[in-house]
Amino acid sequence: MERKRLIYLDHAATTFPKPRAVTEEVLRCLTQYGGNPGRGSHALSLAAAEKIFDCRCLAARFFGVSDPERVFFTVNTTQGLNTVLKGLLRAGDHVLISDLEHNAVYRPLYQMEKQGRITFDTFPSMTGDCRKNAMRICAGIARRLRPETTMVVCTHVSNLCSAMLPVREIGRFCHRHGLLFVVDGAQSAGHVPIFVDEMEIDALCVPGHKGLYGPQGCGMVILGKGILPEALMEGGNGVNSLEGEMPDFSPERYEAGTLPTVAIAGLCEGIRAVESIGTETIFEHEKALYRRTEELLSEKKGLTLYASEYEGAALLLNVDGLTSEQVGSLLNEDGICVRSGFHCSALGHRTLGTPSHGAVRVSFGMYNDMQDVEYLCQSLERIRKEYGGV
Ligand code: PMP
Repeated sequence: MERKRLIYLDHAATTFPKPRAVTEEVLRCLTQYGGNPGRGSHALSLAAAEKIFDCRCLAARFFGVSDPERVFFTVNTTQGLNTVLKGLLRAGDHVLISDLEHNAVYRPLYQMEKQGRITFDTFPSMTGDCRKNAMRICAGIARRLRPETTMVVCTHVSNLCSAMLPVREIGRFCHRHGLLFVVDGAQSAGHVPIFVDEMEIDALCVPGHKGLYGPQGCGMVILGKGILPEALMEGGNGVNSLEGEMPDFSPERYEAGTLPTVAIAGLCEGIRAVESIGTETIFEHEKALYRRTEELLSEKKGLTLYASEYEGAALLLNVDGLTSEQVGSLLNEDGICVRSGFHCSALGHRTLGTPSHGAVRVSFGMYNDMQDVEYLCQSLERIRKEYGGV
């Protein structure tokens, strides 16, 4: 097997490389207009504020909301989820979350439960035939409802395999039952079209650095109409500066302190790049890579693929006789970057039934091609033959 260039297959952690327009905009921001937005009436502060507003407008359009004020910036998805969970839940509330959630959802709720503020339970998300999932999932939620249930939270797409939850149907179900609906879009934003209003989502939390191809250091929350969580942090933002209270309107209520202007500037171009190719086109490309990988690997003895009936950007596997860390290291020796272990989702690993060392996640992005797939599969074949239990 001939060693070729580095093959990056860890896009679910962060996409790499970024489009050229993103890196160029980051450089422009750092060298030409990177003042502190909203902090002065001078040219550089105004230019930075304008760029931030541009990004807010782009994101509002991209995620199907009419007013850009409903988009606020965070440093990552986790901060967004913490803000909406802690800012919307009240003492005594009960929450239902899917059994695939990332620790960005599980841990804030776990902490709140430990403090005696709320309780939460999980509902099953992989209920057999994935095409009939929506009805079964909603029935599973319905069975777990309590009088004090106020919110449903789910990941749109799993960060382990490619299971996608039917957010449109869950959104409709939630609103029929008077429940708030929070969606973790960390693995779907930029891969799958998301329309916050149409899908009846009350808060969508997304990263800038994954499927939207922005730099690390920023994320966003897109709020449903009339949804105004308490702020997670208080501080200055150049608005109503003489008052002790944070503004009671979005986005200023949530953007305390200096924003990650440079990352947001890059994100603007990331969103433009994704829009110009088209989310559906990118996803079709990723699914084609997924299908070919699955085709090449599924017949092999000594390999386990998890939930491979769900096609998408991420494939989870193990090689018999090796831990996921060992497989990750051996792939790295061939210049292939994947992620092993638990991917910050104990819940998801339990649901998928992976062993105690976790599993290996291969995740595709828009710049991968079929050659990458062939090379990955050859490398796995070598590992399987040389070190595996077969
Ligand atoms: N939710 C899911 C489903 C994720 O995959 C991730 C990232 N691994 C997160 C939340 C957290 O994202 P961030 O690192 O941007 O906070």
